[in-house]
Amino acid sequence: MSPSSHLRQSALNLRASAASSKRHPTVNLPDIRAVAFDGYGTLINFTEPDFIVTMAEICARQGLQADAADLWRRFLRASFLLRSENHRDPVYRRYDAAWAIQFERVFKRQRLPGDAWDAANYLKAKLAEAPAFDEAHPVIEALRPHYRIALLSNADDDFLHACLARNGLHFDVVLSSEQAGAIKPNPLIFLRLAELLGLPPAAILYAGDNPIPDVLGPARAGMTAAWVNRAGLRRPRRVPPPYMRVRSLSELLPLLVPPGE
Ligand SMILES: [Mg+2]
Repeated sequence: MSPSSHLRQSALNLRASAASSKRHPTVNLPDIRAVAFDGYGTLINFTEPDFIVTMAEICARQGLQADAADLWRRFLRASFLLRSENHRDPVYRRYDAAWAIQFERVFKRQRLPGDAWDAANYLKAKLAEAPAFDEAHPVIEALRPHYRIALLSNADDDFLHACLARNGLHFDVVLSSEQAGAIKPNPLIFLRLAELLGLPPAAILYAGDNPIPDVLGPARAGMTAAWVNRAGLRRPRRVPPPYMRVRSLSELLPLLVPPGE
């Protein structure tokens, strides 16, 4: 990097940290000892369009006459309803079991002769095969000399571990909702992560793409949140401002590892 671009970068960093400290005055970056990532949508390139394509493939393999985008919206709504049924006393379910219930309800409502477990297993296989974003591996490796690196994902162990192995992504700690018996944004899963890292929550920066699980969740558990807002979404009112807000993992890097370090 040339001296002038170095200066420019330092100015950008200063501006970013000034803006950040205004939003979140209590965090001091040197206190951060670990960076924990969300999986899908953050490190792994599987987002809404991929879910809609998967719905279309399920319709094709099962010979169902349905609009894939509509099926996805109904499936998502079924997931919110399923969670809200146990709002006061959350029940932990593996994703494949929850998805089978959601598919069963959507198929029934739409009078589609679908096989709910076949659909759930197909979605699981797609998530196991999903590719990492190109920037995921280099960003993790650039952070590794400076921080402990963790992954915390709302996922079942089988498809999550298959996906991480396929993409050659390595972490000091991997925690799934299945292992924790709790789903983000429940603070319990974040506290379990802190316990596994052997660090207080305040020493962990959590980076993820989805504001409710990945910004509200860590904030409630006392962690620092970085919102990787690839889609340029608006922050929901119930979600507190994140400490950092970036459009990609690569933008996170100069904020966490200042040039020259
Ligand atoms: Mg995500």
